[in-house]
Amino acid sequence: MFLTRAARCPPQLRASYVEISNYLRGRQIGRVSALQAHGSPVRQYHEARLFIPKPPEPLQFLEDFKKSIDFPRQTTDFKTFLAEAVPGQKIVIYGYLGKSRELSKKLTFVQLADPSMRHAVQLVSTAASKTLPALKAIRAHSPVVVHGTVQPKQAKDTVMAKNDPWEIYLEDIQLLNQFPLDIVMARGHVHPPKHRHLQLRTSPDLRFSLRFRAEVANACRFKLLGLRPDFIEIETPMLFKSTPEGAREFLVPTRKPGLAYALPQSPQQYKQILMASGFSRYFQFARCFRDEDLRADRQPEFTQLDLEMGFASGEDVMEIVEGMMRHLWARQMMDLLPEGPFRRMTYLEAMTRYGSDKPDIRYGMEISRVEHLLPVDLIQKITSLTDPIVEAFKVKGNDNDTEATSEFITRFLDSPEGAPFNENPDGGPGIFVFDVKKPLSGLQPLGWQAAEYFEDKLKLEHGDLIVLQARPQGPLTGGSTKLGDLRRALHFAAVTMGFKPEPHGFEFLWIVDFPLFTPSDSSEPGQGGLAGFSATHHPFTSPKTAKDVDWLLKDPSRCIADHYDLVVNGVELGGGSRRIHNAAVQELIFRDVLQMPDERVAEFDHLLEALRAGCPPHAGFALGFDRLVAVMLGKDSVRDVIAFPKVGKMGEDPMVGAPSPITEEAAKTYHMSFTDDLEIR
Ligand code: ASP
Repeated sequence: MFLTRAARCPPQLRASYVEISNYLRGRQIGRVSALQAHGSPVRQYHEARLFIPKPPEPLQFLEDFKKSIDFPRQTTDFKTFLAEAVPGQKIVIYGYLGKSRELSKKLTFVQLADPSMRHAVQLVSTAASKTLPALKAIRAHSPVVVHGTVQPKQAKDTVMAKNDPWEIYLEDIQLLNQFPLDIVMARGHVHPPKHRHLQLRTSPDLRFSLRFRAEVANACRFKLLGLRPDFIEIETPMLFKSTPEGAREFLVPTRKPGLAYALPQSPQQYKQILMASGFSRYFQFARCFRDEDLRADRQPEFTQLDLEMGFASGEDVMEIVEGMMRHLWARQMMDLLPEGPFRRMTYLEAMTRYGSDKPDIRYGMEISRVEHLLPVDLIQKITSLTDPIVEAFKVKGNDNDTEATSEFITRFLDSPEGAPFNENPDGGPGIFVFDVKKPLSGLQPLGWQAAEYFEDKLKLEHGDLIVLQARPQGPLTGGSTKLGDLRRALHFAAVTMGFKPEPHGFEFLWIVDFPLFTPSDSSEPGQGGLAGFSATHHPFTSPKTAKDVDWLLKDPSRCIADHYDLVVNGVELGGGSRRIHNAAVQELIFRDVLQMPDERVAEFDHLLEALRAGCPPHAGFALGFDRLVAVMLGKDSVRDVIAFPKVGKMGEDPMVGAPSPITEEAAKTYHMSFTDDLEIR
């Protein structure tokens, strides 16, 4: 049995299992011989000879462990050492051992990396110090305690000696945990997500990102706590209850039959209750949980810098958020953002001009409506829709080179990123290259009137690309249009393929005046009402003006929300709104506007009670903290700024193997039953 288990073990553990196995066998044998001592004397004698218990061999790993239990305090840390070392100074210092360079039988150099792996110092081991055998017995990457004397480095290169002037003459070294042989630490070796600890340990970039993240969090705290009136940091519960706030939740079953907690999709309701509780400026670094597919670089659990202000409007909140961004950029990015309030754009304008509610406005490619200029036969060629809207944008060519433009667009449309745009049920994009050498500059199919208009309006130059796309008539809803998606994808491809330079700088933008309600989408739980629409942001968002309040009962689709999203370079950094602070109005929205059934409305009783207790007007905001840090560091994925991110569509943690199957015992404890085709462990 032991052998089988040992065979399944990683090699570094095998030896240990064999040792345990020998040890236990020795003990068992001892027990058998004692039991049989009651037989005949001859038998007893033979058996005693056969079963004499051997003294157990010492288990090496236990011996090593014993040696690592007591280890001295270091007398200095790396930073202090590097700044204040003096020759002849005796020090004790911790670190990870690097690779040895054996210069001769009597002299070895080895690097010692500091525990945070940001600094290193050279250790010198000589035959005279008698440390060579001990050093040789320790593998690279093992944590050690070094005892030694500081001496100036004997580097020939004076620049190097200036930046790294010290080395430590090794006098003693204590191994704290031997690094195993089977873990590859070669430079460039890619560790799988299952070994996130090794990814972190071998990637200075990942470690830098996590430090940077911590600094950004500190800077935010510092800013909010320093304001007058100041903010207070309050933690709200993780074990919340299920409410139809908008996103799909994670449930936490309890031992009480039929009862479950829900993990909070945001601390929204608690923070509003705080506004009714006499805390008028709250913030929190909140963990939020949403059971969504991991598309578009989302995580099922993520961090928000969540804040709320009482006796305040959306304008007050936006001002605070802008101040915080300026502070962060100045402190962490050494970059002063332009003076004055951030630019604002209404949802309608963003969707019309950029086909997105989070546009990157740095690279132009603005969209305009053109169907009134196009010949009917061309429209019929690009779409089967009757009476469609047709929109167009221009992609600037490269050095008036029509061939380069044609090659770029062909490559894009043939790529996996481009192909889906051809399968648009509203018709694929119409693509033209502006070529002054061709009749009507290559825009002949548009007809002369449109060709002239395009040339004029879009300021076309030889080699530019024009993209047309049809869509059905109707109000703009959701986060983007197909042409907006194409604009974004084309720009991204152009930069990646080297067709266009990458835009620089940070363009902050507030997107405001969202519609208060959005037609229901079967993929989102919404509020479960019967109205056919759900809240665009969440059901606690206030209508913007008194007029919008009037629309609530007349035509909710016309209500504009006091909702604002902060966008930078095409990334939504966060969103917030002014809330409905009046219980009766909130209830009216639940019941009469969203038409939520009674039992759903009852799930918000706690909130209605709090609003009813003289809750002041309030507004707030939540900053997607993972995204903010990723943007600041120019990372494409939030996974690069999260210590233990989830991966895959279902949000697995491959390192710990979560989520894991439910055991039969747990199923019983939590009163769960499963359909037959589900396997329980
Ligand atoms: N709770 C909102 C969200 O998570 C943010 C807010 O309105 O403050 O998006």
